[in-house]
Amino acid sequence: MAGQSLYSGPTFDMARKQFALIADHLQIAEDERERLLLPKRTIAVSCPIHRDDGSMAVFQGFRVQHHLTRGPTKGGTRFAPSVDLGEVAALAIWMSWKCALAGLPYGGGKGGVTVDPYSLSSRELEALSRRYMQEMIPFVGPHTDVMAPDMGTNEQVMAWFMDTYSMYQGRTVSEIVTGKPVECGGTAGRREATGRGVAYLVGRAMDLLNLSPSGATAIIQGYGNVGAVTASALSQRGVKIIGVSDHTAAYYDPRGLNLEALDAHVAQNRILRGFSSELLFDPEDLLVQPCDILVPAAMERAITIDNVDALNCRILAEGANGPTTPEADAVIEARGDIFVLPDILCNAGGVVVSYFEWVQGLQQFFWDEAEILDKLDRVLERSLQRVLRRAERDKISHRNAALAIGVETVRQSKVVRGLFP
Ligand code: NAD
Repeated sequence: MAGQSLYSGPTFDMARKQFALIADHLQIAEDERERLLLPKRTIAVSCPIHRDDGSMAVFQGFRVQHHLTRGPTKGGTRFAPSVDLGEVAALAIWMSWKCALAGLPYGGGKGGVTVDPYSLSSRELEALSRRYMQEMIPFVGPHTDVMAPDMGTNEQVMAWFMDTYSMYQGRTVSEIVTGKPVECGGTAGRREATGRGVAYLVGRAMDLLNLSPSGATAIIQGYGNVGAVTASALSQRGVKIIGVSDHTAAYYDPRGLNLEALDAHVAQNRILRGFSSELLFDPEDLLVQPCDILVPAAMERAITIDNVDALNCRILAEGANGPTTPEADAVIEARGDIFVLPDILCNAGGVVVSYFEWVQGLQQFFWDEAEILDKLDRVLERSLQRVLRRAERDKISHRNAALAIGVETVRQSKVVRGLFP
């Protein structure tokens, strides 16, 4: 395919390779492929801020809108040092397949700023968040592109985004972002939605494998929003959490970690480092310790050709986006002993409840948490059944089944609409 020079890097390569596999499987004509894969719009901005010491710093920001065929684009905003155009484009593409699989009326979007958010003070983070949104105002809107949190951003950042956009419009436009605090138009259950969804699907995988949650063990890479909520939700189901890690430390205890103490430590320090010296563990080794459930909930490419043979789990529940490389995927498929909950299915709880938040915001009519959780479980169950049926029918992996449904759905929308969107 020509025209890809704008998007490059290891994460974009993953999205491209996955798409090529699925396009072959679906027998999509060569001349249709670029249109399905390449983003509709890409925005790059410079975000200058004043640092606390009086100096000025400029950060690069991006937003990629993959396609507008099925509705506005929807997707998170990532603040991380790794952020570049290729990474953001890949994440936007994955969002498209994810939304289509869940039956949501969205195209995929994603944004990000190349910054280490842990290096910013709270005031600097606010300045950067507001500046990023300000630069994006001409390109986003409740019916054009709706942002949400991702790695390095949270409810507070969404409140700053919403406030900046609203002040520019001269009225409150809460539907411009999802994942906001409830106090400014957010929905019950959004912050926990991704992790709760992961735990729900893990529960269903355990049912299918006849594994009982009590006595089962889990290891979680990434102890942020997705990882920590997944840990807590699995533990409420009786699963023992024996390992966790973040970018500063990893801890392992085969007797089970004390999540309350871990959460209290993170609430105070933002990071895991300093929690315990006895339980410290090698972060790479943690991923290959024996466990029933392995949850990568941090970065892309945690599971690669270098560690895939050593994986020792029954269920791989992908809380993160793109945690497994296509090469490692092929090995997992050949091994046949791991039940994979692929990212676009496993972590879809976040965008599903974001959709509920958007709908509630547009209507200014709010639902209670029980209704939201019930609807969430039903959407995830439907997606899971679709993936299992497709995998069985086409004799393909869960990942390829999930991607096939996503790509096929977007393609059908494009076919019936024509060339514009
Ligand atoms: P977060 O910033 O709240 O947490 C990320 C965690 O990962 C932090 O604990 C960080 O220290 C840790 N981490 C970073 N690099 C690591 C490394 N090399 N090893 C171990 N841990 C590392 O972010 P989040 O919102 O929880 O997102 C995590 C993943 O889930 C990302 O891939 C994101 O795209 C995906 N995701 C998030 C949502 C959501 O609703 N927040 C929804 C779907 C998917």
